Amino acid sequence: MAKAQAGARRGTRVVVIGGGASGALISARLAEQGFAVVALEKAAIGNGSSSRSAACIRAQWGVAETVMGMRYSEWFYTHFHDLLHAPLADRPWLIKQNGYLFLYEDPDQAAPAWQPSLRRSAASAWAAAQAQVAMQRKLGCDVSLLDPDEVQRRWPHIDAARLIGATWGPADGFLNHDLIYRRGFARAQALGATVRQHAEVTGAEVRGGRIVAVQTTAGRVAGDWFVNAAGAWSPRVSHALGGMALAITPLKRFLYFLKPDRPIMSAEAWAALPMTIYGVGPGRGAHSRPDGATLLLAWSHETDPEPEFTDADQDVIPPAFHHAHGIDNYGYAVLAELDHFAPALANCGGLHATTSGYYEMTPDGVPLIGIDANLSNLVHAAGFSGHGLMHAPMTALLTTAIITGDVTDGAVTLPDPFADHHITLAAFDPARDFHRSPHEAMVL
Ligand SMILES: Cc1cc2nc3c(=O)[nH]c(=O)nc-3n(C[C@H](O)[C@H](O)[C@H](O)COP(=O)(O)OP(=O)(O)OC[C@H]3O[C@@H](n4cnc5c(N)ncnc54)[C@H](O)[C@@H]3O)c2cc1C
Repeated sequence: MAKAQAGARRGTRVVVIGGGASGALISARLAEQGFAVVALEKAAIGNGSSSRSAACIRAQWGVAETVMGMRYSEWFYTHFHDLLHAPLADRPWLIKQNGYLFLYEDPDQAAPAWQPSLRRSAASAWAAAQAQVAMQRKLGCDVSLLDPDEVQRRWPHIDAARLIGATWGPADGFLNHDLIYRRGFARAQALGATVRQHAEVTGAEVRGGRIVAVQTTAGRVAGDWFVNAAGAWSPRVSHALGGMALAITPLKRFLYFLKPDRPIMSAEAWAALPMTIYGVGPGRGAHSRPDGATLLLAWSHETDPEPEFTDADQDVIPPAFHHAHGIDNYGYAVLAELDHFAPALANCGGLHATTSGYYEMTPDGVPLIGIDANLSNLVHAAGFSGHGLMHAPMTALLTTAIITGDVTDGAVTLPDPFADHHITLAAFDPARDFHRSPHEAMVL
């Protein structure tokens, strides 16, 4: 890949498609590097999943590139206001590092009704967790294994008798999602970028395997490079531009909000509750975290792909998934799951809200970040499989490196304080062989 000289960047035009967290941080980083950036958003910024997210962040992942990426992202978000040059008087909270607690069940303590296969999967999940913690620690993560007594001591509301152990990452937590894309675009604009809302990309002029300009509902926009950061819409955008088919499936996901009707712990203990995952492995994975005075809850479920979803579909909640439709809806199934592990929490109030949005799933749960197979100046930055908000700083770093050509032997070197680490771009190649690529097991 040709390396763009720093001086040559000035005036090189990059068109970023998508007004979410990815588009915002990519625009800001490119603008900082001297590129002339135009960001295009079909509606208003935040129209997609970035405003509908549970907004959690963790470095406890299974694929080394993701672990390292999230270490960088956690660092980026803890320095967000400095890095984006926010005014000192206007720095609302951006990250709360309450930690991530994965609870693992003891197969020997499981209910008699448990099938032998469930016992086996619980045992193998714990074995895999221990190996992963070793890998994460090797990459510099502050992650530890906790025994059930320690879990009980730190979080007395958890029934530790059913646990074999837990993994604990105190640097993990959750983000103020709206601020990410608002401040990201503001920084890009301060550096001269143009952000055009209500400009939907509908097609492209292609010459010699390169895009010369995109057509939008607000006119033609020419560029030297183009970035597809259109989230769950990105396969459609790639198709409209004449790019490759992207292995991304939009799947509906729901969030539930529980309002306590009585305190079950001190306000300080509530505010400090970690993101907690109630069991890992097949049929498990319900999770919760505090969201102000309420508790945010979620759990992934089987659902049909919706490749042609509309903007309005993002907020459509079928009765079977809406908390207000009887106690047999999915929200109460999530509460029942919590009840196995933290009965006091599960029974401290009722559900009072349901929200929804689309995950953009890839076959291996790892994003697609790289140059299109057909168009040599189109970079895809999509397919975040439920972790695009936490990945956005790393997405911006990799996308910018691809465009500047700051890639050595297929790898991107992280900036200080992680300059000893390299991210292999092949792990994110949009054209990779998903039968062979490493899979993320714990996509929640
Ligand atoms: C319920 C839920 C919970 C989640 N929880 C987490 C979590 O805890 N942690 C985490 O990191 N991630 C989470 N995610 C995932 C995360 O929110 C997304 O991966 C992330 O927001 C993607 O950001 P993005 O900028 O890539 O895409 P988006 O925010 O979806 O932005 C894409 C933008 O592209 C625009 N667009 C589409 N087509 C066009 C076009 N033709 N022309 C111009 N613009 C176009 C859209 O309008 C949209 O604004 C969750 C998602 C959901 C739905």
